Amino acid sequence: MKTKSNGWAGALCAAFCLLIGVLAAQPVSAEPLEAFVVDKPIEWSAEREFLTREYAELHYGKDTATIVPQAVVLHWTAGPTWESAYYTFYPAARADGTVNVSSQFLVDRDGTVYRLLPETTLARHVIGYNWCAIGVENVGGEGGAEDLTDAQVTANVRLIRALHEKYPTIQYVFGHYQQTAARASGLYIEQVEGYHSIKSDPGPSFMGAVRGQLSGEGLTFYPE
Ligand SMILES: [Zn+2]
Repeated sequence: MKTKSNGWAGALCAAFCLLIGVLAAQPVSAEPLEAFVVDKPIEWSAEREFLTREYAELHYGKDTATIVPQAVVLHWTAGPTWESAYYTFYPAARADGTVNVSSQFLVDRDGTVYRLLPETTLARHVIGYNWCAIGVENVGGEGGAEDLTDAQVTANVRLIRALHEKYPTIQYVFGHYQQTAARASGLYIEQVEGYHSIKSDPGPSFMGAVRGQLSGEGLTFYPE
């Protein structure tokens, strides 16, 4: 009886260990985007598509207005409300006649996630990477203050998880201020010599918090 009992115990233990192993290997299950995203489209028109293609051709040598997402780039708006960012991004063109700046997502201070453009539409938010990067703007950072909220950290983590599950081609997550470090990804393309900018958004404390919650999920971050 003792031997049999040990056999059962061994089998149970083996089954349990196998179960733990299987559970540990599972990625954190993500909710679908549609479970929490609020659609709030900015203008998408023939003009914006034309200007987007023009921008992509000039800067990336690609006549396209769509992307295959390979990175997610986090930003702050440097403004006080989601409306101020939304209406800045809304028009198709800038005063200089080039395609207007925008991002696919905008996260309010309470964590509400607005989708401004489809994830696979090319948006102008980060020099060198727009051809392959989804942009997430966070309301805040006025005057360079690192004041993004805990609700925004949670919302960005949730959003990145959902995007990663929907687009397994996504491998990289970086803050706008990490655009130079992120060239190590091999994704940076810029055909216009001298076209660059210095950025501080969304700040190292925000990136550290997001990175901490997404560690071990197969995404590449850069040191803060
Ligand atoms: Zn930015």
